[in-house]
Amino acid sequence: MALNQYSQVKLAFLPTPLQELPRLTHALKGPRLLIKRDDQTGLALGGNKTRKLEYLFGDALKQDIDTIITAGAIQSNHCRQTAAAAAQMGLRCDLLLNGKYPRLFEGNVLLDNLLGAHIHWKGEEGEPTSLEELAAKVIIAGHKPYLIPYGGSNTFGALGYVNAMAELMEQQKAISHPITHIVFASCSGATHVGLVLGAKLFGFSGKIIGISVDYDESKKTQFQKELVELANATSKKLGLDTLFKNEDFNVNYDYAKGYAIVGELERNAIQLLARQEGILLDPVYSGRAFGAKLDMIKKGTFSKEETVLFWHTGGSPALFPYSSELVSR
Ligand SMILES: *Cc1c(COP(=O)(O)O)cnc(C)c1O
Repeated sequence: MALNQYSQVKLAFLPTPLQELPRLTHALKGPRLLIKRDDQTGLALGGNKTRKLEYLFGDALKQDIDTIITAGAIQSNHCRQTAAAAAQMGLRCDLLLNGKYPRLFEGNVLLDNLLGAHIHWKGEEGEPTSLEELAAKVIIAGHKPYLIPYGGSNTFGALGYVNAMAELMEQQKAISHPITHIVFASCSGATHVGLVLGAKLFGFSGKIIGISVDYDESKKTQFQKELVELANATSKKLGLDTLFKNEDFNVNYDYAKGYAIVGELERNAIQLLARQEGILLDPVYSGRAFGAKLDMIKKGTFSKEETVLFWHTGGSPALFPYSSELVSR
């Protein structure tokens, strides 16, 4: 298998559990609901970036580098997990975060700080405004950086989710009903690309539905193009001649009503899964995608006999900074 030619640094606790949601399935009167616990991947509270980082660090460690740099939002799970992986590998980590130096270090940014990352604030005077500018600054300071893109979404990142699909196919053997749908939060795209490529490679025949949490309908053309390009580049990397088209990527843009705007949809979804099954989502990604899935169930998108898997992508550290939007009084 061509996947083996790429080095992987072991960062994740795999396989992550595939769990049934019997109480919620019963409460909603079907469809049959499952959850894939990639919030339990390990690496400083877990999440979907762990699988991507195994391949990204596999590549990084082959280069003559001593520093990892990446960028994201203030509550970026990707930045937090990258900082943890860098610490584990004994590398320096520089993060470029959106906004200004915060009044409080809460949630993920607290963890970035605890993990020893050097944080640069994009909104502060004289600070870098792009990853390239940050790289230049780090080089001037005498370090040798390796750049990881936003969300870890390049071909290396996608390989993590190609592998994840192989893992799911193995787990599916032990359950009585085939999985008909996979629903998950999609943002920078490598999770979606990896799953779709993995489905082709390993013969998963269900429908893969990404819930866009950032790009709305107006960015559809752009996002579909990004997904297709990343899929084709990853396919080539694996020595496959499969070419992807727009139709291979099923993205629902109906719930993209502003990045990290937490409202009733997210609050109700987070409370419902927590109270029915004792499982925590996050307010920005998985809470929105799970809310979307609940709304789709209400609208009759799935039949009662189908089996819908929610791929939990992590993010729970962000629950804490959003407490005022999440508490019902
Ligand atoms: C990054 C992230 C996603 C989105 O994954 P992409 O591969 O960027 O599309 C979903 N959920 C959580 C919790 C994330 O941190």
